[in-house]
Amino acid sequence: MKTDSLTPYFSLLRQLITPAPDQRTWKKPARLIPPGTLTCGCPRMPDKGRLWSLASMLPAAGTGSQQSPVDIFSDCEGPSSGLEFHYRSSHLNVEHTGFTAQVNYEQGSHITLLGQSFQLVQFHFHTPSEHLMRGEALDMELHLVHMDTEGRLAVVGVLFREGPPKDELDDILERIPPAPGQLDFPEITIRAEDFLPGERSFFTYMGSLTMLPYTEGVRWVVMKNQLTASRAQIQRLEDIFGKTARAVQPLNGRKISCSIT
Ligand SMILES: [Zn+2]
Repeated sequence: MKTDSLTPYFSLLRQLITPAPDQRTWKKPARLIPPGTLTCGCPRMPDKGRLWSLASMLPAAGTGSQQSPVDIFSDCEGPSSGLEFHYRSSHLNVEHTGFTAQVNYEQGSHITLLGQSFQLVQFHFHTPSEHLMRGEALDMELHLVHMDTEGRLAVVGVLFREGPPKDELDDILERIPPAPGQLDFPEITIRAEDFLPGERSFFTYMGSLTMLPYTEGVRWVVMKNQLTASRAQIQRLEDIFGKTARAVQPLNGRKISCSIT
């Protein structure tokens, strides 16, 4: 499949994860760079046809029984299988969404889950973590958001504890736009792989977006091993966006496993 054919899905996803105006108090995004200068393009308003087809796919917000995040109590011993990362580097595009700092990623990076490919679209941050580990919230969570050619979502969550700084974060944190909008830095290269733990055991379950419209059918992959970020790095996000974690949701009988088999 040509990567160009994924563009509508990338646009759709950016609309999906953009919080509705009533979710947070924020001003209308100010465009910080001229239209047409971005290679990734992030339209704010979907066209009517796209909205209609999207609406027919989505359950009503907040009424589902398979919501995210959740408290992960599972034991996960031994190696996991079924997940491979095929990430390339991207030039840096940082967006202040009004809710979080988001890095919009160039096309060409993907994961495979049991042989199914999901393209990396963007990653963003939450403080504190949204997923809990045995009832404990960590200090920060990174969400790497992927989409397949059918529009299905797979999100990889990486939890961070306060500790030694994650140096690669500074490239992003120092360039967050001062108001909603995005900034493009063609001269700066970023590697999503730098934000993955070296050991790739993971938990997985079916859940939802953690922001409006809380769309279900999202395959969640939460990495078992955690990274660290300094207090100053975490505080930088909190100073701009405040606390951005949704409360944990009931499992309602869902199973959390440590690989997809
Ligand atoms: Zn998220």
